[in-house]
Amino acid sequence: MELYELTAREIADGVKAKKFSAEDVTRACLGRLSSLETDLNACITVMEDSAVAKARAIDSGLARGDEMGPLAGAPYIAKDNFCSRGVRTTCSSRILENWTPTYDASAISYMNDAGAILMAKSNLDEFAMGSSTENSIIGPTKNPRDLRRVPGGSSGGSAAAVAAGYCPVALGSDTGGSVRQPAAFCGIQGMKPSYGEVSRYGIVAYASSLDQVSPLARSVEDLAMALEVLARPDPRDTTCDAYDRPKFTDALLLQDLKGKRIGVFAGFEAEMMDAELYGALTSAADHCKSAGAVVEPIDLPIAVKYGVATYYVTALADASSQLACYDGIRYGAHIDGPTLADMYANTRTASFGEEVRRRIILGTALLTEGYYQNYYGPALKVRTKMSAEFDELFSRFDAYLLPTSPSMPYMLGMKEEDPTRMYLGDVFTVPISLGGLPGINISMGLTADGLPLSVQLVGQRYDDARLLGIASVIERIAGRPGVATPDRDKTLRRGGNGA
Ligand code: GLN
Repeated sequence: MELYELTAREIADGVKAKKFSAEDVTRACLGRLSSLETDLNACITVMEDSAVAKARAIDSGLARGDEMGPLAGAPYIAKDNFCSRGVRTTCSSRILENWTPTYDASAISYMNDAGAILMAKSNLDEFAMGSSTENSIIGPTKNPRDLRRVPGGSSGGSAAAVAAGYCPVALGSDTGGSVRQPAAFCGIQGMKPSYGEVSRYGIVAYASSLDQVSPLARSVEDLAMALEVLARPDPRDTTCDAYDRPKFTDALLLQDLKGKRIGVFAGFEAEMMDAELYGALTSAADHCKSAGAVVEPIDLPIAVKYGVATYYVTALADASSQLACYDGIRYGAHIDGPTLADMYANTRTASFGEEVRRRIILGTALLTEGYYQNYYGPALKVRTKMSAEFDELFSRFDAYLLPTSPSMPYMLGMKEEDPTRMYLGDVFTVPISLGGLPGINISMGLTADGLPLSVQLVGQRYDDARLLGIASVIERIAGRPGVATPDRDKTLRRGGNGA
């Protein structure tokens, strides 16, 4: 087994036991990155020197007998919308192409304090708007399980990096599925915690009422370890709740699902989903049964019917106000004009990509007199109704299973032309975000063609620990995902644009 294949837990244990050094692991991970990055294009900035320096500092601390933190020696990558002090943070946008923050996001400081080693900043859809990591100033990221396909998005760089073995853990942001869906497309585990669990301070906002810092990993245990480091009260984010978090890793002691009630989504309409993914959902339900759970079908009529529309109204309205700060003066790009209004227009027109411009314009329209009453107001009401639907279910179930994405990872370029086709792919992730609920993508292995299968496990708000426990039982039966080594020949052998 290569060092880059280890989980964060194995690295932290091995480094502490002096089986290998943090520097060995970091060099192995950087080596893996440099051997695959021309194929994958997962990273915007690679921080080789500072990563090696930090690894050496960990090694000398350990040699002195110092306590170096629960993730000591584990390299990680953060999506390039997390502010990193002294390191360019682009959001994959021309408007922030040369912007370097002077402070770290809380999530980054917590990871660094826990001994994790920031190795790179990963690719994303511009400002986290998208589901395929194709809309980026550095071009698309490729799926390590099949280079012809998208890795999902918007945290596609982080997901591809973890799947390919660049690092055991990565950080992404999940607003409407941007960690769960790329985790599904790349065949790894990814968790959106409850809204309010992790501080959003220092992540560049897309839609503040939905954004949540979310870890990706190749094991549920690593998700729990990361969450234990990330989840804590932070006065710098007023939506980050001040309650005492449980010890998330303790939840993994759960041995079986006896006494647990799990709902399985059964409200499918014709051709709603790729056939392989029904199979994955059914096997996950079977695993729960074999672990002793009571499993029953559920429906989510409001969430499934109105979720996508409600989400896009809410998120775009949020985005139009959040992105107003890129005015050509305070941050990033500046393109002059004869008047102040011309300067705004010149800067924003030339420096935001097409999808971001579309969303700002739609979001602004949604907040104007008339549209507000007809769309934004009703969207807020549906959001409340959806929460009631979830609450009713949680009076009967501990958690429920549903698909993460209705489709298998699709070919690069396939959905670029028609944004609404891409939006519809968010049908199973956005309602969970609107409800503020925790959701975990669990890998369910690979098809005969090597494409990843997965399910989404959803719990009640602030029930993240219990959800991790249930996910770990399912993972024990389904098997933990391994590192993907991209097959360069597949592109040539099969070519074309097969689905
Ligand atoms: N695909 C969704 C969107 O484009 C979700 C993005 C996200 O979670 N950041 O808005």
